[in-house]
Amino acid sequence: MKYETVIGLEVHVQLKTQTKIFCSCSTEFGRPANENTCPICLGMPGVLPVLNKQAVEYAMQACLATDCRINPRNTFDRKNYFYPDLPKGYQITQLNLPIGEHGHININVNSVQKRIGITRIHMEEDAGKLVHGENEDQGKSYVDLNRTGTPLVEIVSEPEMRSAEEAREYLNQLKAILLYTGVSDCNMEEGSFRCDANISLRPFGQEPFGTRTELKNLNSFRFIQKAIDYEVERQTNILDQGDKVIQETRLYDSDKGVTRSMRSKEEAHDYRYFPEPDLVRLTMDNEWIERIRKTIPELPEQKRKRFVTEHDIPEYDAGVLTASQSMANYYEECVALHPHPKIISNWIMGDLSYELKNDGREIEDCPVAPASLIGLLQLIDKGTISGKMAKTVFEEMYQTGKPAQEIVKQKGLAQISDSSSIDKLIDDVLADNPKQIESYRNGKETIIGYFVGQVMKASKGQANPAVVNQMLKEKLNQP
Ligand SMILES: [Zn+2]
Repeated sequence: MKYETVIGLEVHVQLKTQTKIFCSCSTEFGRPANENTCPICLGMPGVLPVLNKQAVEYAMQACLATDCRINPRNTFDRKNYFYPDLPKGYQITQLNLPIGEHGHININVNSVQKRIGITRIHMEEDAGKLVHGENEDQGKSYVDLNRTGTPLVEIVSEPEMRSAEEAREYLNQLKAILLYTGVSDCNMEEGSFRCDANISLRPFGQEPFGTRTELKNLNSFRFIQKAIDYEVERQTNILDQGDKVIQETRLYDSDKGVTRSMRSKEEAHDYRYFPEPDLVRLTMDNEWIERIRKTIPELPEQKRKRFVTEHDIPEYDAGVLTASQSMANYYEECVALHPHPKIISNWIMGDLSYELKNDGREIEDCPVAPASLIGLLQLIDKGTISGKMAKTVFEEMYQTGKPAQEIVKQKGLAQISDSSSIDKLIDDVLADNPKQIESYRNGKETIIGYFVGQVMKASKGQANPAVVNQMLKEKLNQP
């Protein structure tokens, strides 16, 4: 590796308001085309925008949760360009005085902690959508303006990431923070979380950045990593041949796994920004900022650290369990009922996550409630069932929603722990295996495993292995 990769990310996040940023149209996704529109978001002459206060407060939360400084005064600007999905001919955004600046997010890649700076967070309105016709409609395009005027924040990072893994981890953390604060649903399929990546290479040790390319509209975490890896390889080849990277915007083709040129810098727009004359300057006093600060919940990083120190679970477990707030809540409810954090963590990360994943469900919709899972773990503790049986019982609990106790009873799964039944099984096994007894008594003690196996088999797996082991030893050691 001769070159150092430099990555900066710009993420557009849709805020979770009921209505648009400058009018009272609904932001509901999936409505019939152009249903959620009015003269304001259609850009009719003479209409005036009115700023949505909830959108501002969500943007403030996004700033505070990423340690940005909120500008006490910020302004809106017009970014002028023509495109069929932009009825006004301009987008209202924030240029010189964005709502927040100078924040950061901590990421952890391969056990190395790193702080990634956030340059700025600004508010803006979304554009509409072009729908291109297919089959007999081929060659026609339609405009759907339902999305026009949907409130967004754009979160711009410093160019401080050095690999696709770091970029992905930054996005993971950012998404978790936004979900925890509840400012966005971050639904990538619905376009609520969209990412552009700026990528350049420079020889190790060189300070000035190399020429960068911008990858647009990366809409899944998997594609982001693949697109960056592809782009790094492409630029490496260009530099290796002594050529120059061209500054341009590129699109990722997920079918072919390549990036393609969309437009070069020469074709870049001159947006002719100017201050938006229809909106007053936004003043944020300390009282307002502090009131919003109080609404910020415990964030993933703090929670992760608390789980490690309070519950003494590995950093890795804490990272998985805090990936979403619902997952963390589920775990904490379990620990409150049954103070064995590592055992609970293993169940959540193992069998529970496996079933959820198979089923395409989130933990919010998990059919096994924390109290039910604990009911199962208590049956293991009491010796009613073995850990191995518990896995079968759990699967059944997940499918039927029935409590563990009921399933164990119905299926007759209870472990046999009473010594008289086990005594009988052991005697039968010993009677059938005189040779093995002899070799045990001649010093081959490992053969005990064979006997345990035979007894377990005879009990159809229901004998308590610890009791079997104990009783076998007693019998075999009798003269
Ligand atoms: Zn409207």
